[in-house]
Amino acid sequence: MAADYFCSQCRTPFLNDAPLDDHGVCSRCRSGLTGYDTAYSFGYYEGVLKDLIHLFKYARIEPLAQPLGNLLLSAVPLDQRFDVVVPVPLHWRRRLWRGFNQAELLARPLAHRLGVTVSDALRRSRNTETQASLSPSERRSNVAGAFVLRHPAAIRGQRVLLIDDVLTTGATVGAAAAILRHGGARHVAVLTLARVDRRPSWASRTAAEVASLTSSVSQSVKGAK
Ligand SMILES: [Zn+2]
Repeated sequence: MAADYFCSQCRTPFLNDAPLDDHGVCSRCRSGLTGYDTAYSFGYYEGVLKDLIHLFKYARIEPLAQPLGNLLLSAVPLDQRFDVVVPVPLHWRRRLWRGFNQAELLARPLAHRLGVTVSDALRRSRNTETQASLSPSERRSNVAGAFVLRHPAAIRGQRVLLIDDVLTTGATVGAAAAILRHGGARHVAVLTLARVDRRPSWASRTAAEVASLTSSVSQSVKGAK
């Protein structure tokens, strides 16, 4: 199913064009609520892709970072250039518990392929991980002030690619992006493996494409286990 109506900035899908203005921009972007300039995702958070992300994150199969990083790369439009890749940081306590930051592991092979550096420009100052039970507006206030910019020079005047594994409501990456823009980043694009959408008829690529691309990664999982 191809996307019929989606915001030209954040790419949120809509059932009709009512929420979009003459430039195809949604109300959240118009009011600056998203925090980022645009968002790219490889696919939906479902099926094989969801399974792979779970294996990577919760079963901690670290060698998946490389093939998943390649999937991320394929979601970057060919006409876009970036200066620096910034992974969304975990709170140190969460990172300690998991043993790694999945966004950081994804960012490394991606940045290598793009020929740019990875910067740990952001630090998570508060632990705001458990958001599942919160409404979108509660999520936004929960993450407000959750990030601090520790290396402003790394992002000032730069086009930043902000990496996370999954885009849910966009509250977390939005808060991170807002800090980067406030710190002088020229452009902040969010790049995630998967996007959670409750609205139908949106896909960055067809289900068949996702199935064929993810099946090769599934093969590499078998090798990694
Ligand atoms: Zn939008």
